[in-house]
Amino acid sequence: MLTGKTAIVTGSTSGIGLGIARALAAQRANILLNGFGDPNEIKKLQASLASQYGVKVAYSGADMSKPDDIAGMVAQATSELGGVDILVNNAGIQFTAPVHEFPPERWDAIIAINLSAAFHATQAAIPHMRKKKWGRIINIASAHGLVGSKLKAAYVSAKHGLVGFTKVAGLELAGSGITANAICPGWVLTPMVQKQIDDIARDRKIKTKEAEISLLHEKQPSEQFVTPEQIGKLVLFLCSSGADQMTGTALPIDGGWVAE
Ligand code: NAD
Repeated sequence: MLTGKTAIVTGSTSGIGLGIARALAAQRANILLNGFGDPNEIKKLQASLASQYGVKVAYSGADMSKPDDIAGMVAQATSELGGVDILVNNAGIQFTAPVHEFPPERWDAIIAINLSAAFHATQAAIPHMRKKKWGRIINIASAHGLVGSKLKAAYVSAKHGLVGFTKVAGLELAGSGITANAICPGWVLTPMVQKQIDDIARDRKIKTKEAEISLLHEKQPSEQFVTPEQIGKLVLFLCSSGADQMTGTALPIDGGWVAE
């Protein structure tokens, strides 16, 4: 379905981003991976995706908190892979604390990586998409882009901001062949969420499995995790012609979280 197209997936060395990169590669898109991790592991990942799916796989270690790095990443996709057709703004971090104790530097980092990076990458990618009169901008927001939770002031603010940014990009690009949409996952069992489960287990002195059940029970009516593969499939739908007229949306995939 995506033969000859190039996708940048930020934060794709782990979790949801990696699931999305796999789904896109399986449809024959060339991929620019991004994110942190052990250089040897990343090289292996690059090689295994390339050989498994017969696509080109590049890697950029760009730090999403740095606008110059982001511009360099987009330039690299065009020079090494021939363009940017699909941009998935996925890299994100989390930190929890009450507002009155929230460290200002953590606030700044979350806003930079979870929100501003999407603006910088989108700004750099749009001219390449306009040339081809086709493009897909997909922002990985969160259920926390639609509703709040205690202790997550920066994250909830960034994700609500990302949903707002998606609406404006969708409006400005409407009719151009380029769409912008946000995906709003509920709980997905990735390293980011594992840390929160481990914190609950430690604080409440309960087993990890009990902490996992409690985390799901509190927010996600299905009491089942969403998977990176399911999010990858939603990304593929947004890249299909069936989604040509979908733009500016925020799509929950959350086991019922925001229906309550
Ligand atoms: P993760 O921690 O498994 O992966 C995060 C990825 O981002 C990693 O590849 C990491 O290296 C990269 N990253 C972090 N800081 C970076 C930086 N400064 N520059 C470049 N890359 C950086 O997390 P995940 O759960 O897969 O989260 C991916 C996205 O999905 C995030 O935006 C997150 O907010 C969102 N999300 C996650 C969940 C969930 O339950 N896991 C739910 C809703 C939304």
